[in-house]
Amino acid sequence: MKAHDGIYLDGAWRPALSRDLIDVVDPVDEQVVARVPAAGPDDVDAAVRAARTALPGWAATAPAERAARLTALRDALAARQEEIAETVTAELGSPIGFSRAVHAAVPIAVAGSYAELAASHGFEETVGNSTVLHEPIGVVAAITPWNYPLHQIVAKAAPALAAGCTIVVKPAEDTPLVAQLFAEAAHEAGLPAGVLNLVTGRGPVAGQALAEHPGVDLVSFTGSTAVGRVIGATAGAAVKKVALELGGKSANVILPSADLARAVNVGVANVMSNSGQTCSAWTRMLVHRDRYDEAVELARTAAAKYGDRIGPLVNAKQQARVLGYIEKGVAEGARLVAGSTEPPRERGYFVSPTVLADVTPEMTVAQEEIFGPVLSVLRYDDEEDALRIANGTVYGLAGAVWAGDEAEAVAFARRMDTGQVDINGGRFNPLAPFGGYKQSGVGRELGAHGLTEYLQTKSLQF
Ligand code: ADP
Repeated sequence: MKAHDGIYLDGAWRPALSRDLIDVVDPVDEQVVARVPAAGPDDVDAAVRAARTALPGWAATAPAERAARLTALRDALAARQEEIAETVTAELGSPIGFSRAVHAAVPIAVAGSYAELAASHGFEETVGNSTVLHEPIGVVAAITPWNYPLHQIVAKAAPALAAGCTIVVKPAEDTPLVAQLFAEAAHEAGLPAGVLNLVTGRGPVAGQALAEHPGVDLVSFTGSTAVGRVIGATAGAAVKKVALELGGKSANVILPSADLARAVNVGVANVMSNSGQTCSAWTRMLVHRDRYDEAVELARTAAAKYGDRIGPLVNAKQQARVLGYIEKGVAEGARLVAGSTEPPRERGYFVSPTVLADVTPEMTVAQEEIFGPVLSVLRYDDEEDALRIANGTVYGLAGAVWAGDEAEAVAFARRMDTGQVDINGGRFNPLAPFGGYKQSGVGRELGAHGLTEYLQTKSLQF
Protein backbone atom coordinates (compact mmCIF):
# COMPACT_ATOMS: atom_id res chain seq x y z
CA MET A 1 0.00 0.00 0.00
CA LYS A 2 1.24 3.49 -0.83
CA ALA A 3 2.22 5.55 2.22
CA HIS A 4 3.99 8.83 2.91
CA ASP A 5 7.05 8.49 5.14
CA GLY A 6 6.53 11.95 6.57
CA ILE A 7 3.94 14.09 8.31
CA TYR A 8 1.96 16.77 6.46
CA LEU A 9 3.07 20.01 8.00
CA ASP A 10 2.78 23.61 6.84
CA GLY A 11 1.77 22.62 3.32
CA ALA A 12 4.34 19.88 2.63
CA TRP A 13 5.25 16.30 3.55
CA ARG A 14 8.23 16.51 5.91
CA PRO A 15 10.24 13.87 7.77
CA ALA A 16 9.10 13.45 11.38
CA LEU A 17 11.60 14.32 14.12
CA SER A 18 10.63 11.10 15.88
CA ARG A 19 12.14 7.92 14.36
CA ASP A 20 9.38 5.71 15.67
CA LEU A 21 7.16 3.98 13.08
CA ILE A 22 3.66 2.50 13.11
CA ASP A 23 2.97 -0.77 11.27
CA VAL A 24 -0.31 -0.69 9.38
CA VAL A 25 -1.83 -4.19 9.37
CA ASP A 26 -4.48 -5.67 7.07
CA PRO A 27 -7.01 -7.20 9.52
CA VAL A 28 -8.03 -9.88 6.97
CA ASP A 29 -4.62 -11.56 6.64
CA GLU A 30 -2.63 -9.92 9.47
CA GLN A 31 0.08 -8.75 7.06
CA VAL A 32 1.86 -5.40 7.43
CA VAL A 33 0.80 -3.33 4.41
CA ALA A 34 2.64 -0.07 5.15
CA ARG A 35 4.58 1.92 7.74
CA VAL A 36 3.98 5.53 8.73
CA PRO A 37 5.73 7.86 11.18
CA ALA A 38 4.74 7.72 14.84
CA ALA A 39 5.15 11.41 15.58
CA GLY A 40 6.47 12.64 18.91
CA PRO A 41 5.69 15.76 20.97
CA ASP A 42 8.15 17.89 18.95
CA ASP A 43 6.36 16.99 15.72
CA VAL A 44 3.03 17.86 17.31
CA ASP A 45 4.46 21.18 18.50
CA ALA A 46 5.65 22.01 14.97
CA ALA A 47 2.20 21.19 13.56
CA VAL A 48 0.40 23.34 16.13
CA ARG A 49 2.80 26.23 15.43
CA ALA A 50 2.11 25.91 11.69
CA ALA A 51 -1.64 25.99 12.37
CA ARG A 52 -1.28 29.06 14.64
CA THR A 53 0.76 30.91 12.04
CA ALA A 54 -1.84 30.16 9.36
CA LEU A 55 -4.80 31.12 11.57
CA PRO A 56 -5.08 34.91 11.08
CA GLY A 57 -4.99 34.62 7.29
CA TRP A 58 -7.52 31.79 7.06
CA ALA A 59 -9.84 33.33 9.66
CA ALA A 60 -9.89 36.53 7.61
CA THR A 61 -10.61 34.72 4.34
CA ALA A 62 -14.10 35.48 3.04
CA PRO A 63 -16.60 32.64 3.64
CA ALA A 64 -17.17 32.41 -0.13
CA GLU A 65 -13.47 31.67 -0.66
CA ARG A 66 -13.47 29.11 2.17
CA ALA A 67 -16.50 27.53 0.46
CA ALA A 68 -14.58 27.39 -2.83
CA ARG A 69 -11.67 25.57 -1.15
CA LEU A 70 -14.12 23.11 0.44
CA THR A 71 -15.75 22.48 -2.93
CA ALA A 72 -12.28 21.75 -4.33
CA LEU A 73 -11.63 19.45 -1.37
CA ARG A 74 -14.88 17.60 -2.03
CA ASP A 75 -13.91 17.22 -5.69
CA ALA A 76 -10.40 16.03 -4.81
CA LEU A 77 -11.90 13.38 -2.52
CA ALA A 78 -14.42 12.38 -5.20
CA ALA A 79 -11.58 11.95 -7.71
CA ARG A 80 -9.95 9.54 -5.26
CA GLN A 81 -13.14 7.65 -4.39
CA GLU A 82 -11.90 4.23 -5.50
CA GLU A 83 -8.46 4.71 -3.92
CA ILE A 84 -10.16 5.74 -0.66
CA ALA A 85 -12.33 2.61 -0.70
CA GLU A 86 -9.33 0.34 -1.40
CA THR A 87 -7.27 2.00 1.30
CA VAL A 88 -9.98 1.65 3.96
CA THR A 89 -10.43 -1.98 2.95
CA ALA A 90 -6.70 -2.57 3.34
CA GLU A 91 -6.32 -0.97 6.78
CA LEU A 92 -9.77 -1.56 8.34
CA GLY A 93 -10.68 -4.81 6.56
CA SER A 94 -14.20 -3.81 5.57
CA PRO A 95 -15.65 -5.46 2.43
CA ILE A 96 -14.95 -3.32 -0.65
CA GLY A 97 -18.65 -2.73 -1.39
CA PHE A 98 -19.18 -1.24 2.06
CA SER A 99 -15.98 0.79 1.73
CA ARG A 100 -17.27 2.30 -1.50
CA ALA A 101 -20.85 2.90 -0.36
CA VAL A 102 -20.06 4.21 3.12
CA HIS A 103 -16.39 4.84 3.93
CA ALA A 104 -15.76 6.72 0.67
CA ALA A 105 -19.19 8.10 -0.25
CA VAL A 106 -20.31 9.55 3.11
CA PRO A 107 -17.25 11.79 3.67
CA ILE A 108 -17.59 13.17 0.15
CA ALA A 109 -21.23 14.06 0.91
CA VAL A 110 -20.25 15.64 4.23
CA ALA A 111 -17.44 17.68 2.65
CA GLY A 112 -19.96 18.86 0.04
CA SER A 113 -22.45 19.82 2.73
CA TYR A 114 -19.85 22.06 4.41
CA ALA A 115 -18.90 23.67 1.10
CA GLU A 116 -22.56 24.76 0.90
CA LEU A 117 -22.82 25.71 4.57
CA ALA A 118 -19.63 27.81 4.43
CA ALA A 119 -21.24 29.86 1.65
CA SER A 120 -24.69 30.16 3.23
CA HIS A 121 -24.12 30.31 6.99
CA GLY A 122 -24.90 33.61 8.72
CA PHE A 123 -21.56 34.55 10.28
CA GLU A 124 -23.17 37.83 11.43
CA GLU A 125 -26.58 38.57 12.92
CA THR A 126 -28.41 41.51 14.42
CA VAL A 127 -29.88 41.26 17.92
CA GLY A 128 -31.59 44.53 18.94
CA ASN A 129 -28.86 47.18 19.01
CA SER A 130 -26.08 44.60 18.65
CA THR A 131 -24.28 43.00 15.77
CA VAL A 132 -23.24 39.49 16.77
CA LEU A 133 -20.17 38.12 14.98
CA HIS A 134 -19.62 34.37 14.80
CA GLU A 135 -15.84 34.07 14.66
CA PRO A 136 -13.60 31.02 14.32
CA ILE A 137 -12.56 29.60 17.67
CA GLY A 138 -8.92 29.22 16.56
CA VAL A 139 -6.63 26.22 16.26
CA VAL A 140 -8.47 22.90 16.39
CA ALA A 141 -6.99 19.56 17.44
CA ALA A 142 -8.90 16.67 15.85
CA ILE A 143 -8.24 13.26 17.40
CA THR A 144 -10.08 10.53 15.52
CA PRO A 145 -10.77 6.78 15.77
CA TRP A 146 -10.45 4.00 13.19
CA ASN A 147 -14.06 2.81 12.83
CA TYR A 148 -15.12 5.21 10.04
CA PRO A 149 -11.64 6.56 9.46
CA LEU A 150 -12.25 9.16 6.76
CA HIS A 151 -15.72 10.17 7.91
CA GLN A 152 -14.44 10.94 11.41
CA ILE A 153 -11.75 13.23 10.01
CA VAL A 154 -14.05 15.02 7.55
CA ALA A 155 -16.78 15.47 10.19
CA LYS A 156 -14.29 17.58 12.14
CA ALA A 157 -12.02 19.12 9.48
CA ALA A 158 -14.75 20.28 7.08
CA PRO A 159 -16.77 22.31 9.63
CA ALA A 160 -13.57 23.63 11.23
CA LEU A 161 -12.33 24.85 7.84
CA ALA A 162 -15.76 26.27 6.97
CA ALA A 163 -15.71 28.20 10.26
CA GLY A 164 -12.26 29.69 9.51
CA CYS A 165 -10.30 27.56 11.96
CA THR A 166 -6.97 25.91 11.24
CA ILE A 167 -6.47 22.33 12.25
CA VAL A 168 -4.10 19.56 13.30
CA VAL A 169 -5.44 16.05 12.70
CA LYS A 170 -4.17 13.05 14.68
CA PRO A 171 -5.80 9.96 13.13
CA ALA A 172 -6.03 6.55 14.79
CA GLU A 173 -2.93 4.33 14.72
CA ASP A 174 -4.78 1.54 12.88
CA THR A 175 -5.99 3.68 9.96
CA PRO A 176 -3.44 6.38 9.06
CA LEU A 177 -3.37 5.69 5.31
CA VAL A 178 -6.76 7.13 4.40
CA ALA A 179 -5.86 10.11 6.61
CA GLN A 180 -2.81 10.65 4.39
CA LEU A 181 -5.09 10.54 1.33
CA PHE A 182 -7.22 13.21 2.98
CA ALA A 183 -4.17 15.46 3.47
CA GLU A 184 -3.25 14.92 -0.21
CA ALA A 185 -6.77 15.98 -1.22
CA ALA A 186 -6.56 19.06 1.02
CA HIS A 187 -3.24 19.97 -0.58
CA GLU A 188 -4.70 19.60 -4.05
CA ALA A 189 -7.71 21.70 -3.04
CA GLY A 190 -5.37 24.65 -2.58
CA LEU A 191 -5.73 25.17 1.16
CA PRO A 192 -3.03 27.64 2.23
CA ALA A 193 0.02 26.11 3.95
CA GLY A 194 -0.56 25.36 7.64
CA VAL A 195 -4.36 25.52 7.47
CA LEU A 196 -4.55 21.72 7.67
CA ASN A 197 -1.80 19.57 9.19
CA LEU A 198 -1.66 15.81 9.67
CA VAL A 199 0.36 14.11 12.39
CA THR A 200 0.23 10.32 12.43
CA GLY A 201 1.13 8.93 15.83
CA ARG A 202 0.17 6.97 18.90
CA GLY A 203 -2.62 8.09 21.21
CA PRO A 204 -0.73 8.31 24.49
CA VAL A 205 2.18 10.15 22.80
CA ALA A 206 1.08 12.30 19.84
CA GLY A 207 -2.59 12.36 20.85
CA GLN A 208 -1.87 13.41 24.40
CA ALA A 209 0.72 16.02 23.34
CA LEU A 210 -1.85 17.52 20.96
CA ALA A 211 -4.70 17.52 23.50
CA GLU A 212 -2.47 19.20 26.10
CA HIS A 213 -0.83 21.72 23.77
CA PRO A 214 -1.38 25.32 24.94
CA GLY A 215 -1.53 26.46 21.30
CA VAL A 216 -4.75 24.51 20.71
CA ASP A 217 -8.06 26.33 21.31
CA LEU A 218 -10.50 23.46 20.85
CA VAL A 219 -10.02 19.71 21.11
CA SER A 220 -12.48 17.64 19.13
CA PHE A 221 -12.19 13.98 20.07
CA THR A 222 -14.03 10.88 18.94
CA GLY A 223 -13.19 7.59 20.63
CA SER A 224 -13.54 5.69 23.86
CA THR A 225 -15.21 7.15 26.93
CA ALA A 226 -12.08 6.35 28.97
CA VAL A 227 -9.83 8.54 26.81
CA GLY A 228 -12.57 11.16 26.32
CA ARG A 229 -12.84 11.59 30.07
CA VAL A 230 -9.09 12.33 30.33
CA ILE A 231 -9.17 14.73 27.37
CA GLY A 232 -12.21 16.50 28.84
CA ALA A 233 -10.45 16.90 32.20
CA THR A 234 -7.26 18.23 30.59
CA ALA A 235 -9.20 20.67 28.44
CA GLY A 236 -11.29 21.76 31.42
CA ALA A 237 -8.20 22.52 33.49
CA ALA A 238 -6.88 24.69 30.65
CA VAL A 239 -10.32 26.35 30.12
CA LYS A 240 -10.27 25.07 26.57
CA LYS A 241 -13.37 24.17 24.60
CA VAL A 242 -13.86 20.48 23.96
CA ALA A 243 -16.15 18.35 21.79
CA LEU A 244 -16.43 14.66 22.66
CA GLU A 245 -18.10 11.90 20.65
CA LEU A 246 -17.90 8.81 22.83
CA GLY A 247 -19.54 5.45 23.27
CA GLY A 248 -23.08 4.21 22.88
CA LYS A 249 -25.39 1.36 23.81
CA SER A 250 -28.33 2.36 21.71
CA ALA A 251 -31.77 0.83 22.06
CA ASN A 252 -33.83 -0.45 19.17
CA VAL A 253 -37.35 -0.36 20.63
CA ILE A 254 -39.86 -2.52 18.78
CA LEU A 255 -43.34 -1.57 20.02
CA PRO A 256 -46.07 -4.27 19.85
CA SER A 257 -47.78 -2.67 16.83
CA ALA A 258 -44.59 -2.71 14.69
CA ASP A 259 -43.87 -4.77 11.59
CA LEU A 260 -41.73 -7.23 13.54
CA ALA A 261 -39.91 -8.88 10.66
CA ARG A 262 -38.85 -5.57 9.17
CA ALA A 263 -37.82 -4.09 12.53
CA VAL A 264 -35.73 -7.14 13.42
CA ASN A 265 -34.09 -7.46 10.00
CA VAL A 266 -33.15 -3.79 9.80
CA GLY A 267 -32.05 -3.93 13.44
CA VAL A 268 -29.72 -6.87 12.86
CA ALA A 269 -28.30 -5.22 9.72
CA ASN A 270 -27.64 -2.06 11.71
CA VAL A 271 -25.59 -3.96 14.30
CA MET A 272 -23.64 -6.13 11.81
CA SER A 273 -22.79 -3.18 9.55
CA ASN A 274 -19.05 -2.34 9.71
CA SER A 275 -18.71 -5.52 11.84
CA GLY A 276 -20.41 -3.75 14.70
CA GLN A 277 -17.73 -1.07 14.97
CA THR A 278 -20.24 1.78 15.04
CA CYS A 279 -20.72 3.95 18.12
CA SER A 280 -24.37 4.60 17.22
CA ALA A 281 -25.24 0.92 16.54
CA TRP A 282 -28.57 -0.33 17.98
CA THR A 283 -26.94 -3.03 20.07
CA ARG A 284 -29.91 -3.58 22.39
CA MET A 285 -33.09 -4.84 20.75
CA LEU A 286 -36.13 -4.41 23.03
CA VAL A 287 -39.11 -6.65 22.24
CA HIS A 288 -42.48 -7.10 23.98
CA ARG A 289 -42.64 -10.43 25.83
CA ASP A 290 -45.56 -11.67 23.67
CA ARG A 291 -43.49 -11.40 20.49
CA TYR A 292 -40.11 -12.18 22.03
CA ASP A 293 -39.62 -15.75 20.82
CA GLU A 294 -40.63 -14.82 17.31
CA ALA A 295 -38.19 -11.88 17.31
CA VAL A 296 -35.31 -14.04 18.56
CA GLU A 297 -35.94 -16.56 15.79
CA LEU A 298 -36.01 -13.78 13.18
CA ALA A 299 -32.77 -12.33 14.57
CA ARG A 300 -31.10 -15.73 14.56
CA THR A 301 -32.02 -16.29 10.91
CA ALA A 302 -30.94 -12.79 9.92
CA ALA A 303 -27.57 -13.08 11.70
CA ALA A 304 -26.89 -16.47 10.11
CA LYS A 305 -27.41 -14.91 6.67
CA TYR A 306 -24.69 -12.35 7.41
CA GLY A 307 -22.24 -15.19 8.03
CA ASP A 308 -19.38 -14.47 5.68
CA ARG A 309 -20.46 -11.05 4.48
CA ILE A 310 -19.09 -9.07 7.39
CA GLY A 311 -15.44 -8.13 7.58
CA PRO A 312 -13.03 -8.65 10.48
CA LEU A 313 -12.56 -6.36 13.46
CA VAL A 314 -9.75 -3.86 13.19
CA ASN A 315 -7.12 -5.64 15.31
CA ALA A 316 -6.37 -8.58 17.59
CA LYS A 317 -7.06 -6.55 20.73
CA GLN A 318 -10.58 -5.68 19.59
CA GLN A 319 -11.23 -9.27 18.55
CA ALA A 320 -10.19 -10.56 21.97
CA ARG A 321 -12.25 -7.88 23.70
CA VAL A 322 -15.41 -8.68 21.73
CA LEU A 323 -15.05 -12.46 22.21
CA GLY A 324 -14.54 -11.77 25.92
CA TYR A 325 -17.85 -9.90 26.04
CA ILE A 326 -19.68 -12.79 24.35
CA GLU A 327 -18.22 -15.19 26.93
CA LYS A 328 -19.21 -12.85 29.72
CA GLY A 329 -22.76 -12.64 28.37
CA VAL A 330 -23.07 -16.42 28.36
CA ALA A 331 -21.52 -16.65 31.85
CA GLU A 332 -24.07 -14.14 33.16
CA GLY A 333 -26.97 -16.19 31.76
CA ALA A 334 -27.56 -14.97 28.20
CA ARG A 335 -28.44 -17.58 25.57
CA LEU A 336 -26.18 -17.72 22.50
CA VAL A 337 -28.57 -18.18 19.56
CA ALA A 338 -26.20 -17.16 16.75
CA GLY A 339 -22.45 -16.72 16.62
CA SER A 340 -19.73 -18.10 18.83
CA THR A 341 -17.22 -17.40 21.58
CA GLU A 342 -14.54 -18.71 19.20
CA PRO A 343 -13.13 -16.94 16.14
CA PRO A 344 -14.60 -18.37 12.91
CA ARG A 345 -11.27 -18.38 11.03
CA GLU A 346 -7.67 -19.07 11.96
CA ARG A 347 -6.32 -16.00 10.26
CA GLY A 348 -7.73 -12.49 10.47
CA TYR A 349 -9.51 -10.74 13.32
CA PHE A 350 -12.98 -12.15 12.55
CA VAL A 351 -15.90 -12.55 14.95
CA SER A 352 -19.10 -14.32 13.83
CA PRO A 353 -22.34 -12.32 13.77
CA THR A 354 -23.67 -13.01 17.24
CA VAL A 355 -27.11 -12.81 18.84
CA LEU A 356 -27.57 -13.10 22.60
CA ALA A 357 -31.12 -13.77 23.84
CA ASP A 358 -32.57 -13.71 27.38
CA VAL A 359 -30.41 -10.67 28.10
CA THR A 360 -31.59 -8.72 31.16
CA PRO A 361 -30.92 -5.01 31.70
CA GLU A 362 -28.29 -5.38 34.42
CA MET A 363 -26.06 -7.78 32.44
CA THR A 364 -22.68 -6.49 31.24
CA VAL A 365 -23.69 -7.10 27.61
CA ALA A 366 -26.73 -4.82 28.15
CA GLN A 367 -24.71 -2.03 29.77
CA GLU A 368 -21.24 -1.82 28.16
CA GLU A 369 -20.29 -0.94 24.63
CA ILE A 370 -18.96 -4.08 22.91
CA PHE A 371 -17.97 -2.58 19.53
CA GLY A 372 -18.39 -5.80 17.60
CA PRO A 373 -21.09 -7.75 15.72
CA VAL A 374 -23.03 -8.63 18.87
CA LEU A 375 -26.75 -8.02 19.36
CA SER A 376 -28.43 -8.36 22.77
CA VAL A 377 -32.18 -9.05 22.68
CA LEU A 378 -34.10 -7.95 25.78
CA ARG A 379 -37.73 -8.55 26.84
CA TYR A 380 -40.07 -5.85 28.16
CA ASP A 381 -43.50 -6.09 29.81
CA ASP A 382 -45.09 -2.80 28.78
CA GLU A 383 -44.15 0.60 27.34
CA GLU A 384 -43.03 2.05 30.68
CA ASP A 385 -40.77 -0.95 31.18
CA ALA A 386 -39.36 -0.50 27.64
CA LEU A 387 -38.63 3.16 28.36
CA ARG A 388 -36.89 2.35 31.66
CA ILE A 389 -34.70 -0.21 29.91
CA ALA A 390 -34.00 2.05 26.91
CA ASN A 391 -32.91 4.91 29.18
CA GLY A 392 -31.17 2.65 31.68
CA THR A 393 -27.53 2.95 30.63
CA VAL A 394 -24.88 5.67 31.06
CA TYR A 395 -25.02 6.27 27.29
CA GLY A 396 -27.43 8.15 25.02
CA LEU A 397 -26.08 8.43 21.50
CA ALA A 398 -28.71 7.01 19.14
CA GLY A 399 -31.66 4.64 18.97
CA ALA A 400 -34.65 3.48 17.00
CA VAL A 401 -38.38 3.10 17.56
CA TRP A 402 -40.72 0.98 15.47
CA ALA A 403 -44.53 1.13 15.65
CA GLY A 404 -47.51 0.57 13.37
CA ASP A 405 -48.25 4.26 13.61
CA GLU A 406 -45.53 6.90 13.17
CA ALA A 407 -47.05 9.20 15.81
CA GLU A 408 -46.89 6.40 18.37
CA ALA A 409 -43.18 5.90 17.61
CA VAL A 410 -42.51 9.65 17.83
CA ALA A 411 -44.28 9.89 21.20
CA PHE A 412 -41.96 7.20 22.55
CA ALA A 413 -38.86 8.77 20.94
CA ARG A 414 -39.58 12.08 22.70
CA ARG A 415 -39.14 10.33 26.04
CA MET A 416 -35.79 8.73 25.17
CA ASP A 417 -32.60 10.22 26.65
CA THR A 418 -30.59 10.07 23.47
CA GLY A 419 -29.22 12.31 20.72
CA GLN A 420 -30.72 10.66 17.62
CA VAL A 421 -33.68 8.36 17.05
CA ASP A 422 -34.62 6.72 13.75
CA ILE A 423 -38.39 6.33 13.36
CA ASN A 424 -39.50 3.13 11.61
CA GLY A 425 -36.08 2.76 10.03
CA GLY A 426 -35.56 6.42 9.03
CA ARG A 427 -32.65 7.07 6.68
CA PHE A 428 -29.23 8.59 7.54
CA ASN A 429 -29.23 12.36 7.17
CA PRO A 430 -25.76 13.93 6.82
CA LEU A 431 -27.16 17.30 7.94
CA ALA A 432 -28.82 16.05 11.16
CA PRO A 433 -26.93 16.92 14.36
CA PHE A 434 -25.15 13.85 15.72
CA GLY A 435 -23.98 13.57 19.31
CA GLY A 436 -24.70 12.25 22.73
CA TYR A 437 -26.82 12.72 25.80
CA LYS A 438 -25.26 11.67 29.11
CA GLN A 439 -21.83 9.98 28.86
CA SER A 440 -22.04 9.61 25.09
CA GLY A 441 -20.46 12.99 24.71
CA VAL A 442 -20.41 16.75 24.57
CA GLY A 443 -21.31 18.75 21.47
CA ARG A 444 -22.77 17.89 18.09
CA GLU A 445 -21.30 17.06 14.70
CA LEU A 446 -22.63 17.42 11.13
CA GLY A 447 -24.75 20.08 9.47
CA ALA A 448 -25.15 23.61 10.80
CA HIS A 449 -24.98 22.39 14.41
CA GLY A 450 -21.57 20.87 13.69
CA LEU A 451 -20.37 24.16 12.21
CA THR A 452 -21.35 26.25 15.23
CA GLU A 453 -19.14 24.08 17.47
CA TYR A 454 -16.15 25.75 15.81
CA LEU A 455 -17.42 29.33 16.25
CA GLN A 456 -17.34 31.77 19.13
CA THR A 457 -19.47 34.87 19.39
CA LYS A 458 -18.59 38.52 19.78
CA SER A 459 -21.25 41.24 20.22
CA LEU A 460 -20.83 44.81 19.05
CA GLN A 461 -23.30 47.32 20.58
CA PHE A 462 -24.54 50.38 18.72
P1 ADP B 1 -10.87 3.40 20.11
O1 ADP B 1 -9.54 2.75 19.83
O2 ADP B 1 -11.78 2.57 20.94
O3 ADP B 1 -11.49 4.05 18.93
P2 ADP B 1 -9.41 5.36 21.60
O4 ADP B 1 -10.08 6.32 22.51
O5 ADP B 1 -8.36 4.47 22.14
O6 ADP B 1 -10.63 4.59 21.05
O7 ADP B 1 -8.81 6.09 20.34
C1 ADP B 1 -9.37 7.17 19.67
C2 ADP B 1 -8.29 8.15 19.30
O8 ADP B 1 -7.73 8.68 20.51
C3 ADP B 1 -7.12 7.56 18.52
O9 ADP B 1 -6.65 8.52 17.57
C4 ADP B 1 -6.08 7.34 19.60
O10 ADP B 1 -4.76 7.36 19.11
C5 ADP B 1 -6.32 8.54 20.49
N1 ADP B 1 -5.86 8.40 21.88
C6 ADP B 1 -5.73 7.26 22.61
N2 ADP B 1 -5.25 7.54 23.83
C7 ADP B 1 -5.09 8.88 23.90
C8 ADP B 1 -4.64 9.79 24.91
N3 ADP B 1 -4.27 9.38 26.11
N4 ADP B 1 -4.62 11.12 24.62
C9 ADP B 1 -5.02 11.56 23.42
N5 ADP B 1 -5.44 10.76 22.43
C10 ADP B 1 -5.48 9.44 22.65
